[in-house]
Amino acid sequence: MRFLKDKFKMMVPYHSSVITNGIILNANESPYEPPLIVKDGIKKALSSIEFNRYPDMDCNILNESIAKHFNISKDNVTCGVGSDELLDTMFRAVLNEGDIVLGFSPSFSMYKVFTDLSLAKYIPVTGDEFMQFHVDSMINSIKEYNPKIVLICSPNNPTGQFFTKEEVKRIIESTNALVAIDLAYNDFADEDYSKVALDYPNVICFKTFSKALALPAIRLGYAISTKENIDMLNAIKPPYSVTTITQIIGKIAIDNYNLYQGQINLIKREREYIYETLKERGYNVYPSKANFIFILMDDKYYDLLIKNKIYIRKLKENTYRITVGNHFENEKLLEVLK
Ligand code: PMP
Repeated sequence: MRFLKDKFKMMVPYHSSVITNGIILNANESPYEPPLIVKDGIKKALSSIEFNRYPDMDCNILNESIAKHFNISKDNVTCGVGSDELLDTMFRAVLNEGDIVLGFSPSFSMYKVFTDLSLAKYIPVTGDEFMQFHVDSMINSIKEYNPKIVLICSPNNPTGQFFTKEEVKRIIESTNALVAIDLAYNDFADEDYSKVALDYPNVICFKTFSKALALPAIRLGYAISTKENIDMLNAIKPPYSVTTITQIIGKIAIDNYNLYQGQINLIKREREYIYETLKERGYNVYPSKANFIFILMDDKYYDLLIKNKIYIRKLKENTYRITVGNHFENEKLLEVLK
C-alpha cells in the first residue's frame, strides 16, 4: 500500500469471507427473508424503475415513510448506504485531528476505524468484571476527557447490553458533546427511544434496515436527529449514494413493519432459548437484548462448531458472539455444544 498516507499505515483492509455451505451465525443477520408481501411488493416495484435516471438524492419518499413510522417530520431523517455511511459521515463532519471520542468497550469495531480515519483519538470506557457497562463510568470519563463525540450502542454489539431511555438521558444531559446512539439492534429490545434525538440538540440516533428488517443486501440505514444535525450530515454525505432500488425496497419494508413483528418475536424467543440452555449447561453466556449472544468459551468449542460447518464470530481468544438463527439452526448449534 505504498500510496497510503503515513497516518493511515495502521489501517488493515476489512475482510469477511462469503460462506455458502453451512449454518451462518456470524454476522447478526436475520435468519428469515423479508415477509412475502414485502418481497412481492419489491418484485412489482422493480419493473417501474427508470434506470437511466439518477436516484432522488434527498430520498424524499423513503424519508416520508420513515418519518411516518416514527410520527416525526421528514426533516428529522436522512438515509445512507447502511448506517455505516452515516456514522462515517458524522465522524468526518465533526472531528478535528486529535479530538477525543468516548465509547464503551468492547463495542462495534467500526467506531474505532472511523475515529482513526478522522485522526482523532478513541478512548474506550470498559465495564465491570461481569462485562456490564455503567452510566456513571461514562459520565466520569466525559468529565475527565471532554470528548467531541460520545458513542452509545444499545443494545451493544457484541455484549447485548441494552441501555434504558433513562440511562441514555443521564449520559446526554451530562455533556455538550455530540451523543451518537447506535440503535441497529433496537427492534429486538423492549423499548424504542429513537425519538429521544429530537428532545436534545446534541443527539443523533442511527438505525438500519440490515438487522430486524432483514435487508442487509440493499445497504440502507438512517439517522434521526434535529433538522440542524440532519442538515450537517446531508452537507457532508456524498450525493446519490442511496440507489433508487434501495429507496423503493426500503419504503416497502418500513411501510409493512407490522408484518415483521412475528419474525422479531421468534428471534427474541429463540435468543432466550439459546441463552437459558447454554446457561443451564454452565456456559459463560451474557443476557442480551439483541439478535446475538456474547459468550466466553474455550476455543476448542469453536473448532468443533467449524468442523460441523457452524460459523459464529470469534472476537478474540475464548471470546465469541453467536447470532440467533432459526430454530433448526439453533438446535444444531446447541447439539454441537452439548
Ligand atoms: N452499528 C452496529 C452496532 C452494527 O453492528 C452494524 C453492522 N454490523 C452497523 C452499525 C452497520 O450496519 P449497516 O451499515 O448494515 O446499517
